[in-house]
Amino acid sequence: MKLEPQEDQSAFMLVQVEDVTAEREAQEELAFQALHDSLTGLRNRSWLIQVLDQDLADATALGQHVGVLFIDLDNFKVVNDSLGHVAGDEVLSQIGHRLQSAMSSRERLGRFGGDEFVVIVPEVGDVLEVERVAERIDAVIRQELEIQGHRIVPTGSIGIAVSDASSTADGLLRDTDAALFRAKSTGRGRWHFFDQQMHDQAVDRLTVEGEIRRGLDDGQFFVVYQPIVRLRDRKVIGHEALVRWQHPVRGLVSPGDFLPVAEESGLIVPLGRHVLHQVCTTLRDRSDMGPISVNVSAVELASRGWAGSLLATLEDYAVKPEQIVVEVTETAVLSQLDSTGEDLASLRDLGVGVHVDDFGTGFSSISLLRDLPVTGLKLDRSFVQSLTSDDSQANALSAGVAGLVHGLHLTGIAEGVETEAQWATLLSQGWEFGQGYLFGRPAPMESA
Ligand code: C2E
Ligand code: CA
Ligand code: CA
Repeated sequence: MKLEPQEDQSAFMLVQVEDVTAEREAQEELAFQALHDSLTGLRNRSWLIQVLDQDLADATALGQHVGVLFIDLDNFKVVNDSLGHVAGDEVLSQIGHRLQSAMSSRERLGRFGGDEFVVIVPEVGDVLEVERVAERIDAVIRQELEIQGHRIVPTGSIGIAVSDASSTADGLLRDTDAALFRAKSTGRGRWHFFDQQMHDQAVDRLTVEGEIRRGLDDGQFFVVYQPIVRLRDRKVIGHEALVRWQHPVRGLVSPGDFLPVAEESGLIVPLGRHVLHQVCTTLRDRSDMGPISVNVSAVELASRGWAGSLLATLEDYAVKPEQIVVEVTETAVLSQLDSTGEDLASLRDLGVGVHVDDFGTGFSSISLLRDLPVTGLKLDRSFVQSLTSDDSQANALSAGVAGLVHGLHLTGIAEGVETEAQWATLLSQGWEFGQGYLFGRPAPMESA
């Protein structure tokens, strides 16, 4: 009996020890989680910021610089939206692994959030050193991935900033973000260094984003229509809808000045919906407009339920599918993602036209025609502009594409026709349709 309390006590002690171990493990686990990203196992944003603060302090003391590379996967949203989140997670963790294995011992990698990774290079001597890191990162990202039976060739855009004595972690990361935006808007799969001009642009961009949002609410966006003609007799056979922004202060703004921001922010989706509603109203009210072509960006194509919502809108307005053509540009991703192809195929099967826009400016043109359910193509304006009787190369290209159009039984439209000479050449090469200032400028519906 005398032993009992002791036994009890030892049992109690043991429990205590276990408790302490479990608690310590739990604390360690929490500490680990606080600085790591659970999906990729990489360090996380909090860690990156802590370390960057420290590296900046060290670099300043030594009179050196810190390089920061902000990596954002291109079109990741497309993967996520079309193949699902599980596939998206798989892409992130595979790329995380690859990046990790490409780092040297001094470089610090972490996942910043979403499809964003950050690499910190402490103590850099010159900009070239950072550029070499960017090259290395770019090369590992570009390797093909296999995800649920789909082959994907990812690319990433990289924004780069190099610290000076007054840099803060926050400021430096903001600079890389501005540089990233520049990298994206000059064509994805690139890197860009930060400069002051970009800072100003970043501020502008935020302003524009807010203004687009407000503009959508206030009905500042409207549609103009440009005729598409049959070249032979210049008879108008349809129109292309082009969006315009009547900005309260800046006046009329062209799509080139706000579409990049609308795409980056996802606002292109409600904007595209707005355009489609206006187009359907026009088609309902005017029977003489012919089919109307609408531009659809990759971000819209990738947004879930896009095709279904387009069909539902047509039905709401009692517009026949044959009255609508969607124009999509030849983005590499289009040829890789089955779901986009399926969406377009279902539209085409119902009678909606599917045209490849700006044909000839991408590099995957011909395989795209094979892989995507397209009904037509638009020869990019740059080809038409260099059509002169003595530029045999431009002539050969344009004539060659005309042959392709006939061979594949597609609708061929030459864009940007401005002169009689271009018209005559296109006609002689067998182009059937055209669009351009020679036949009519984009105009509001009243006078279209
Ligand atoms: P795009 O689809 O290639 O449209 C043709 C562009 O060329 C239009 O510019 C048009 O005004 C211009 N254009 C037409 N004929 C001629 C010509 O003879 N000479 C010259 N130099 N230009 C001509 P715009 O309206 O500024 O649109 C620019 C781009 O913005 C469009 O290029 C299209 O990619 C995009 N876009 C326009 N509206 C929408 C929209 O509602 N949604 C989406 N996602 N994109 C749109
Ligand atoms: Ca177009
Ligand atoms: Ca075009």
